[in-house]
Amino acid sequence: MQNNLNCNQVVTLLTFYIENKLDINLSKCVQEHLNSCPYCMEKYMKLRRILENFSEIRTKISEEDKDFEQYDNQQYKRFKANLSAYIDNELTDNENIKIKKIAISNPLARKDLEEFYAFKQLLTSSFNRTKNELKYDFSKKTLEKINSKEENTKINPFFKLAGLFMVITMIMVIGLINMLNF
Ligand SMILES: [Zn+2]
Repeated sequence: MQNNLNCNQVVTLLTFYIENKLDINLSKCVQEHLNSCPYCMEKYMKLRRILENFSEIRTKISEEDKDFEQYDNQQYKRFKANLSAYIDNELTDNENIKIKKIAISNPLARKDLEEFYAFKQLLTSSFNRTKNELKYDFSKKTLEKINSKEENTKINPFFKLAGLFMVITMIMVIGLINMLNF
C-alpha cells in the first residue's frame, strides 16, 4: 500500500491508531507518516498522553467504586451482625446510632430492618394470643378443678350411683325405642 496520507488525515486517525482500531495496512501508513513527520509525531505523543491519563483516571474511579462497595459490604455485615441486638435494645447508644445510620444509607439494610420488625411484630402478636389463650385455659382448668373438688366433697356417693343408674337406664330406654322404631 502506498503511503499517501496527508497530515490532516493522520491527525484524524490518531485516536483510532492509539487504540489499535485501524486495520494493519492503515496503521502501518500512519506509523510511517509519524516517523517522517515531526508535526504529526508531536500531536501523536500529546494525544497518547491525554488518553493514557484518561484511562488512568477511569481505572482509578472504578477502583474507588470497588472500595466503596467493599465499605458498603462491611457496613452491611456489621449491620447484619448487630440487627438482632439492635431490635432487642441490647446495644449501647453509640452502636444504636451507627446501626440507624447504616439502615438509613443502605437500602439492603433498611429492607432487612423492616422485615425483621414485621417478623418480630408477628411473633409478638402470636405470642400474646397464645398467652391469652393460655391464661384463659389456665383459669378454665382451675375453675374446673375447683368445681370438681366441690362436687367430690358435696355429692353423696349414693347420688353418684343413682346418677349412673339413671344414665344406664336412659341409654337402655333409648336403645329400646330405636329397636321398636325399626
Ligand atoms: Zn504529518
